[in-house]
Amino acid sequence: MNFDLNQLIRDNIKKLTTYSSARDEFSGDAKVFLDANENSLGSPLTKWYNRYPDPHQQKLKAAISQIKSIAPENIFLGNGSDECIDLLYRSFCEPKKDNVIICPPTYGMYEVSANINDIEVRKAPLLDNFQLDLIHLENLIDVNTKLIWICSPNNPTGNFMNRKDIETVLNNFNGIVVIDEAYINFSRQKTFTQELSDYPNLVVLQTFSKAWGLAALRLGIAFASKEIINVLNKVKPPYNINQATQDFALKALEEVGQVNDMIRILVDMREALTEVLLQMPIVEKVYPSDANFILVKIKQARKVYEFLLTKGIVVRDRSNVKLCDDCLRITIGTEQENTILVDALADYIKNQTT
Ligand SMILES: *Cc1c(COP(=O)(O)O)cnc(C)c1O
Repeated sequence: MNFDLNQLIRDNIKKLTTYSSARDEFSGDAKVFLDANENSLGSPLTKWYNRYPDPHQQKLKAAISQIKSIAPENIFLGNGSDECIDLLYRSFCEPKKDNVIICPPTYGMYEVSANINDIEVRKAPLLDNFQLDLIHLENLIDVNTKLIWICSPNNPTGNFMNRKDIETVLNNFNGIVVIDEAYINFSRQKTFTQELSDYPNLVVLQTFSKAWGLAALRLGIAFASKEIINVLNKVKPPYNINQATQDFALKALEEVGQVNDMIRILVDMREALTEVLLQMPIVEKVYPSDANFILVKIKQARKVYEFLLTKGIVVRDRSNVKLCDDCLRITIGTEQENTILVDALADYIKNQTT
């Protein structure tokens, strides 16, 4: 491998003088802060919300660093992973010139964000077993290929990608390999965050939106070399993580035990729901899942989807997605919600046969 980060960064980003916020110019302790045009009298909410938040989220990164055993300099925080995805495009991909590779069916934002940034998307669809098609992938790479997106465990299929395959991509691609681990906490697969020192071209995405139960806060993490993190820091809006998010996330990080309990319960219910669905005559397949959802191949999926809607139950219809025909993606609910779902499906089957 012949990885040169400098060659990947867009020229305009290389030349960028970063915006220096008030909190950058002075970040120490002082008696009187009159440098940021905040409202000195206070706010209608808690007293410190009149102040701009820490643009580098140092306390929060220190806490994440502890839990993940990764140095703060290897951590970037985004307004959801979705902001990390967008920033990767804006940092490394030149509009109308560069391209990226995705492996569909996969998370939709990689393509949407590419389109917003006017970046060509090349597709190496997953194989029938939902694993990476390495030969196709390799054939798509050219000198302008900057990013390869690998989602593992993958949304919407639920499986993790073979570790050997991911390593092959990491070892042979001179651009950046982004591994999206949004669902890693539900998986038997080991995270790639501990391999950062082996792969200068690796970016791992994680999020507070799934296992941590904090989708509303909008907090995503990118783990990477400090050189890549520095580029993202240069491009991000200065105050991209608001104070409320920083406060709440810090508080949540004290509750790892509770989060681990929820993960265990969700995984148990995933297996239980899988068993129940497999007994149903309309269910053709429940794909093995390493996430907090299952992909279910079901006869006349669209019809089932619409029936469930009449019962007030919303699942995700993926029946028009290539390789997912007649599939519904079902998030694992509470015990009660899963029961409501199962009862509704039983109703549907009864209606079909009478
Ligand atoms: C849900 C999800 C995310 C999370 O995005 P956020 O912006 O952090 O909420 C990222 N990647 C995948 C594959 C997802 O399914």
